[in-house]
Order: sequence, then C-alpha cells, then structure tokens
Amino acid sequence: MPHRTETDSRKLLRRLRDEMSLSNPGQERLDRITTIIAESMGVEVCSIYLFRDADTLELCATEGLKPDAVHKTRLRLGEGLVGKVARTAKPLNTANAPAEPGFRYMAETGEEVFTSFLGVPIQRLGERLGVLVVQAKEPRLYSEDEIYGLEVVAMVIAEMTELGAFVGEETSFAATHKHPIMLRGVTAQEGEAEGEVWLHEPRVVITNLVNDDSQAELARLEEAVEQLRVSVDQLLANAGGRDKEQQEVLLTYRMFAHSRGWLKRMEEDIRLGLSAEAAVEKEQSTARARLETVPDAYLRDRLHDLDDLSNRLLRILTGQGNETGAEMPDRPILVARNIGPGELLEYGRRLRGVVLEEGSVGSHATIVARALAIPLLINVPRITTEALTGDHILVDGTEGVVHLRPDDSIASAFRDKMAMQAKAQERFASLRDKPAQARCGTRISLKMNAGLMADLPSLPSSGAEAVGLFRTELQFLAQDRMPKRSDLVANYARVLDAAKGKRVYFRTLDIGSDKVMPYMKRPDEPNPAMGWRALRVGLDKPGVLRMQLQALIRAANGRALSVMFPLVATVSEFTSAHDMFMREIERERRLGHPLPEKVEVGAMLETPSLAYAPRSFFESVDFLSIGGNDLKQFFFAADRENELVRRRYDTLNVSFLTFLQVIVDRCHESHTNLSFCGEDAGRPIDALALAGIGIPSLSMRPASIGPVKSLIRRANLNEVSELIARVQARGLESARPALLDYVATLVE
Ligand code: PEP
Ligand code: MG
Repeated sequence: MPHRTETDSRKLLRRLRDEMSLSNPGQERLDRITTIIAESMGVEVCSIYLFRDADTLELCATEGLKPDAVHKTRLRLGEGLVGKVARTAKPLNTANAPAEPGFRYMAETGEEVFTSFLGVPIQRLGERLGVLVVQAKEPRLYSEDEIYGLEVVAMVIAEMTELGAFVGEETSFAATHKHPIMLRGVTAQEGEAEGEVWLHEPRVVITNLVNDDSQAELARLEEAVEQLRVSVDQLLANAGGRDKEQQEVLLTYRMFAHSRGWLKRMEEDIRLGLSAEAAVEKEQSTARARLETVPDAYLRDRLHDLDDLSNRLLRILTGQGNETGAEMPDRPILVARNIGPGELLEYGRRLRGVVLEEGSVGSHATIVARALAIPLLINVPRITTEALTGDHILVDGTEGVVHLRPDDSIASAFRDKMAMQAKAQERFASLRDKPAQARCGTRISLKMNAGLMADLPSLPSSGAEAVGLFRTELQFLAQDRMPKRSDLVANYARVLDAAKGKRVYFRTLDIGSDKVMPYMKRPDEPNPAMGWRALRVGLDKPGVLRMQLQALIRAANGRALSVMFPLVATVSEFTSAHDMFMREIERERRLGHPLPEKVEVGAMLETPSLAYAPRSFFESVDFLSIGGNDLKQFFFAADRENELVRRRYDTLNVSFLTFLQVIVDRCHESHTNLSFCGEDAGRPIDALALAGIGIPSLSMRPASIGPVKSLIRRANLNEVSELIARVQARGLESARPALLDYVATLVE
C-alpha cells in the first residue's frame, strides 16, 4: 500500500472520529461526514444511502448532489448502481457510470454530470445497512487502495449507533438495537414466554475503532493471533475422543488461524487507521456478507467457523470472555445461533424460552427444550445480531414469532394471550384426576412421553396414567462420552422410582437419522432417516443394546418392566431383538440378580411394512405402539425434518386414517394392545380422530394431556367415528374440516 494513501486514510479516519465525538445533531453529523470524505478523497460527490426497509434505500446525506434530493430519492434493492452494490454487498467501481449495465438516471439528484462512480456497502457483521458512494466528473477508475480505504470508512460509519434514526421510525433498522422489531421463525416447541434476552455468546463490544499508533496496534494483533493459535492447538490436542466432524471444525479453525490472507487483510486495515478489534470485525463483516450468498452448505459451514474464530480473537483482544459480568436476568430467554443439548441442559429450568438463529425441529436441543417444557423457536434470522442481553423479548411459540423490544400495545396483547392460556391450564388442571372418558362411555388411556429425569416431575401433575414412551437415547445424546452400564442402571432406577409404580415403556436406543452421538462412529449415509438407525444398529452391533437391556433388567430390580423396540420393519427383526432380551434375562438369572416380576415386550410400528406382518406376529407381541412421526414420514414419503415438506401432508388425510384403521382392525382381531405415541397424539383434534378410529391409548408430551382430555370428555367417539366414515364415503381428502365443525358444536 503506498505511503501516501496510508497517511491520507489515517487522516480521514481521525477526522471522522473527531467528527463523531462531537455532539452534533444526527443529520448535521452525517452531512459533515460526506463533506469530509469528499474533500479528503478529492471528489465532487460523496453520498450515504441507507436501508429504509429490507428492499428500499434512501439517500440520507450528500455532498455534491442536490440537497433537495436528501430523504426523497429512493431506490429498490438491485435498482441502479447503488441498488446493485446493496444487493451484491460488493464494491462497484467504474470510470463511466452511464455505460454500466443497470445504471439508472436520477434527474432529481443532478448526478448526470458525474461520470466516475465508486460504491461500497455499509455493513456491520453481515447486516447490510446501506451504501457509501463517491462520484467525480473526471472519468477515472479508483485504485484498489482507494476502494479499500472507502471500505474502511464505511465500516466506521456502520458503527454509528444512531444510523437508524435517519431513515424514519417505521424502519426495523438493525444497528440501533433500540427499535422494536418482530422476527419470524419456525416453532420447534410451542408455548409463550416473556422475559429478557440472555445471549449464549455475548457480543463483544468494541469501543475504540480508530488507532493512534498503528505499530502498537499491529503488535497487539500479532500477540492476540499467537494466543489464538495456541488455544486452537490446545483444543485440537484435547479433541482425541471427539468425532470426525468436530475434529474437522477444529482443523478448519487452525487453518484460518494460520491464514496469511486473513491476517494480511487485518494488518492492512490497521495500517489504514483502524484499531485491531475494528479490523477483526471488518473482516468478520465481509465474511458474513459472503455467507449469505454462498449456496454450498459445506462452504457456509466453513465461513461460520471463521466467524467463530473471529469472535474468539475479539474476546482475546478486548479481554471480554463469555463472562462479561452481566447478570442473568430474572426471566432469561436464551438467544443463540445454535446450542447443543448438553449446554441447554446446563441452563436447565432457569430458562423461560429459547430462540435460535439456526437449529432444526428434530435436533437434540429441540428434544431437550421439549423435556424442559419451554417454548423454542428456530430459524429466526438475524436474532443474534439484533438482540442484546437484557432486551425485553416476547416469544410466541404458537405463531412462530419473536417480538424484540416490543412496544406497550404488543406487550399487553401478548400478556392477555398468556393470561388466557394460564386460565385454560387451570381448567385442565382441575381435570387431572378425572378419566379421559368420552360422552359415549369409552375411556381412552392418556400417557406421557419422556426422555430425561427432568420430565418425571410432570408425571403426577399432568394426570398421565403412565410413561407411554421413554426415549432412552436422550441420556446418550446429552453427554460427550458413552454412558457406562452403571450410569444406565442408576438412571433407569431413578426413573422407575419417580414413576411410583406407574408403568414406564422404555424404548431402546433410537439413534441414527438426526440423533447423532458425538462419540460413536457413524457411516456417511445418503439418507439417514431411511438408513442405519434404531433397531438396525442394535441388531448389527449388539454391544450397546445388550448393555442397555441388562441395565433395564437390573434397574427394575424385581419390579415390572416394559420394553419396546424402535423402527421394527420385519417380524424377524422383532424376533431377534426379543430373543436377545430373553438371553439377557437368562444371563441375569444366572448371575443371581432379581428378575422383573413381569415383562412386556413390544414393537414400535413406524414403517408401513409392519402393518402387514402375519397375524402370528400381532399375537406374539405384548403390545404395539404406533410411532406416528416416523410412520407418517414413510407413508407420505415426506421427510419429517424437512421444512419444505414437513407440513404438506395432514395426519387427518383420509388415506392415512384408513391405513391406521387397518392397524386398529388387525390389533382388534388378535387382541393386541395398541397405543399411539407420535407428536400428533398431543394435538387435540388429531387425538380425537385417533380415538374415534379406535386407538385406545395415546401418549403425548405432558402439557398436551389437559387439552386432549378436555376435548375427549366433551365428545362422543361414536359420532366421531361416524363422521370419519362419512368423510371417507364422500371421497374427501381430509377429515379435518368436518372434525373442526364437529368440535365447534361441543359445549365447553
Ligand atoms: C415417532 O416416530 O412417532 C416416535 C414417537 O419416535 P421418535 O419421534 O423418537 O422417532
Ligand atoms: Mg420414531
């Protein structure tokens, strides 16, 4: 970089810093900034365009264009050269602007006489805020150094916290962190919560942007990078037991930490006058902007890694660790890009809700959030950049929206909604000891799903008759090493103790698909949901399944024991698993351990194939439990984790109900106990339909038991059954509309 440019840039940055430290009113300050830049760069025009909303840019200050155009001239994203810079988040440099594709002539600004154009994005941590433009009459192409210098200036402008004020009140301007905004996401666990933001990874606050001594600043950066490299090497050295994926992430960290290109860019930023922290953040912003445009998932992950690394470097430079000294608010709502199940469990019941920028409905964190019974929203864009620890936040898990810094009217409407739901819960609580008996006299057995010790306190309070599905894999997922048999025995024994004689249906390990244990090797599979998972793993590599069966028998310690195997697709799979269980019983007997007074061994019906197994199979199992989540995904060939298709097929689709009736009829003929334990069992209308077609037992998350019971008690299942038969006879696609009409006629 030529010395002259360096000095000029430093001077320009100093002047900007001085200007920013004055307490001029916002507009005046922005105007002054454009003047300073134009003077310093020797150009006739300097303009600042800011986003008014996601699609519209507004000219907010200018030196050189007609002053009347300020706050009047607007452009859509992608419109004209300014719109193009905003859309691509890349600089645009041309000596002949009118000849440039996409050029739009804006008469009101008087810009027609300016031939050369250089525009750079104003962005902060990947958040696009606007565009900074310089123009000149002389047809010149700006040098690489000038482009770079202008990007550095744009970075400083991006840090002006009051930028949002320039573009009017209705804007959801990000960098202000003051305005109320609503963000839409995907509900992973329903429910409502009000509280204050608690950032899982607090943002590092940068206070000094411009340096006074670039040599000293370069030395600081060098030292911090060295510290970073040592810490990454340490992480790698300790990563022996981790899985391939985690090691790969750490290796990428190391690669970036040693990347000359990354370091060189930051050093250049510092020579131009930025502080070391600002230089790191500038590179982080550029990487984030790129992130949005990279279609390749693998590359996106790598850019995320660079982002994490930049955060680490910022923490070293500023001395701000995760412990920022902030106190956890009274009603913490956790906000994070993503979180692991173990970390979420550590927060435990203190949290009121969780909002994630990434995540998936079937992730382990989701499973834990369900166990903790707190609302969880995932795929909420920008939440980690928008929210600050302590911000007032409302999580509406029913609508899938987050209100950040809501105004009073939103907050009070939200509280009304929460109060109504609390009232409904009270009503449900009064039904706790009453049976789920419909008006026709039929009783439905309502059970609860669980998977963690944390779930068990809900057993008495929910009114569940039993734990109809205990997902044993959660214990395996929530830790970073394989549990020992003694750990399992202790855990299952505690579960049985807490159940106080109520039956617990332990489902053996259902791993594979999205449930990945970091410490267990797993093949790369093209389609893991239909791959080597659940009982398939247990039969092919029986070590863990046998250990689990032994642990269950020991934990029962003479008490009754119910075990079910997941994803049984053929009779022989069930027979092999059953034989394995019997061999373990025999082994425990030989070892002199007490045997369960009674055992029940069942299968989960999660593939259509099992519905057509021979009658002898139905007679041989002690019970069948329909895993509706998987059964539905295989019936409709629609991935339950894929947001594009997940909601496309209704459980009350007549074909699916007719198929479920086949299972009900076959169980009826062979006197097989039948239950349904997919998520749909917890949705009142769906539950009513399932009961109406003759499924006698439903297992659901504890919070659903009240609403489901309340509806069943008001309904007549014979009427429901007749209604479904009529819908079938009429050739309709779904029974939902008719059922909704029926439910509307029931008295509260
Ligand atoms: C199911 O598939 O419906 C089920 C209950 O099991 P899981 O959701 O754990 O796969
Ligand atoms: Mg399943």
